[in-house]
Amino acid sequence: MTYQSPSRDMQFVLQELLQVPAMLASCGKPEFDAETIDQVLTAASQFASKVIAPLNELGDEHGCSMPAPGVVQTPPGFKEAYDEFTKNGWHGLACSPEHGGQGFPSVVENAVYEILGGANMAWSSYPGMSHATYVNVATNGSPEQKALYLPKIASGEWAGTMCLTEPNAGTDLGLMRTRAVPQADGSYLITGSKIFISGGEQDLTDNIMHLVLARMPDAPPGVKGISLFIVPKFLPDAHGVAGARNAVVCGSIEHKLGIHGNSTCTINFDGATGWLLGAANKGLAGMFVQMNHMRVLVGVIAIGLMESAYQKALAYAKERLQGRISGTRASGENADPIIGHADVRRMLLTQKANIEGARALALWTAQLSDLQRIHPDAAKREEAVELLGLLTPLVKALSSDLAVESTLLAMQVLGGHGYIRENGVEQHLRDVRIVGLYEGTNGVQSMDLLGRKVLGDGGRQMGKFLDMAAAFTETCSPRKAMREFAEPLAQLIADVRQLTSELVGTSADDPHAAGAAAVPYLRLVGHLALAWTWARMAEVALKHSESTDSIYASKIATARFYYQRLLPQTAALCGEIRAGSSALMEPAIDLF
Ligand SMILES: Cc1cc2nc3c(=O)[nH]c(=O)nc-3n(C[C@H](O)[C@H](O)[C@H](O)COP(=O)(O)OP(=O)(O)OC[C@H]3O[C@@H](n4cnc5c(N)ncnc54)[C@H](O)[C@@H]3O)c2cc1C
Repeated sequence: MTYQSPSRDMQFVLQELLQVPAMLASCGKPEFDAETIDQVLTAASQFASKVIAPLNELGDEHGCSMPAPGVVQTPPGFKEAYDEFTKNGWHGLACSPEHGGQGFPSVVENAVYEILGGANMAWSSYPGMSHATYVNVATNGSPEQKALYLPKIASGEWAGTMCLTEPNAGTDLGLMRTRAVPQADGSYLITGSKIFISGGEQDLTDNIMHLVLARMPDAPPGVKGISLFIVPKFLPDAHGVAGARNAVVCGSIEHKLGIHGNSTCTINFDGATGWLLGAANKGLAGMFVQMNHMRVLVGVIAIGLMESAYQKALAYAKERLQGRISGTRASGENADPIIGHADVRRMLLTQKANIEGARALALWTAQLSDLQRIHPDAAKREEAVELLGLLTPLVKALSSDLAVESTLLAMQVLGGHGYIRENGVEQHLRDVRIVGLYEGTNGVQSMDLLGRKVLGDGGRQMGKFLDMAAAFTETCSPRKAMREFAEPLAQLIADVRQLTSELVGTSADDPHAAGAAAVPYLRLVGHLALAWTWARMAEVALKHSESTDSIYASKIATARFYYQRLLPQTAALCGEIRAGSSALMEPAIDLF
């Protein structure tokens, strides 16, 4: 079955929950009104279902190939789809008008990428990565670099990559060896080998702007000695005309579990010409601008994939006749649709609660990235920066973990048929698995949340987040209809507050306390964020309880399911966190 974009749910989130048009108007951007946003999402949905969804299975089966050394061919149809995306100006959606873009807010861009990712993750990752390089250069580039590169990325003529990983340096980028030697003309000669570079070579664009982390000869050791460079595949002249081939070559492509249509390349730099982007030895911080952008983006792409898998599971569950539903005698058929079975409903509602909760949370996070840039009040901008820092690892890790779990459930709904290629769910499962691994593994995201963002400031920022959630529960507790949500949420806020303060204490004495608690802590805070989000959605829906639009009744029913059936998992997480590090760290390695 063909992927359908979840337009009504996105409308609910963007317009009724987050009130994006009103927010944009108050930030001096009234042109992005509800109708305009709807038009963009409708056009994105059409492109997704008509152009890239039909290439999804084909891209998986065909994959990328290397017909000649250094040359990478994407699957049939990918280039034509890319050209159509380019012709229709999609690359520039969230780029500045100064560079030929349309200046749409990040929250709309992320909604569009959920739709594209749901239709074809492998294809969508090419423009997604390119836009992230735009964000990097727009933040860190000199005026000349911006003028030279950004219009080319915004128009889609050129693509961009991020080149961090090396064979011996994955999570620990301090170990990287790629060198950058300064030249008399202000450029650098870059030498080294990067692995796993997404879109590192392809046949979609005329040129590729590689953003490369490397060390200068006199750089301090570790992460403090890493700088960021622009290294184009073809060297541009001052007018942006791509000229001579640079010494950048794709050595090989990876054969991997999923996203076969997205090339994953070894890129060899053999004295390639590059230019410093941002300050010397501050390259990791510069690259984090792009990585943080990508973390939210891959989170929404994961949500798109779980939506796609859910759509298949739901359609199947309505048609597949197996067994009798307890207590019923259905019509002339010998069996009933499996959607009537309690366990199948458990699986479907878990997916629905995960998808809609994660979507609302991710789009709120994207909205914060707009607020940090455009809100007229400096204090509000600062508040958005802090919240965004806290929520970025959460959205990346939570969305991708939920996406894998939900897609597994979608497969389970189809029974053995889910394991069969032609039903499509097995591709989704293979494709979605990468999101928990790249852009920093989910273990590393959890350490970022607990180690850096929470314990790093003694729990202050987390305390502010909990205060915001608590203020919400206080405003809705007096309303009877909201009590079933407000009361358990208030209890969870108190539990997380207590647990965070305990962790601030234990981590002072135990160097392993944070590492041992990080993953369950992120999931616990994820539950809190989802519970808060579901309560907010229920509050909106309750105002329309008389409406004939079924979305409101559906929101209330799913919020109830979430609170009654999924939120109780928090008790187990609290127990796991309180168990501390001893059972993990005491066994000698030869006991494993
Ligand atoms: C398909 C694909 C596309 C990719 N695209 C890109 C790209 O475009 N650009 C790019 O630069 N890279 C890319 N990567 C690389 C990716 O970002 C890395 O694989 C990832 O960051 C993890 O590094 P690693 O594989 O070396 O794992 P390692 O760092 O070796 O980690 C192995 C395990 O150890 C854990 N671990 C490591 N260090 C710690 C620690 N300090 N504390 C606790 N646990 C730890 C990890 O969580 C993980 O579970 C891609 C990878 C793949 C597979």
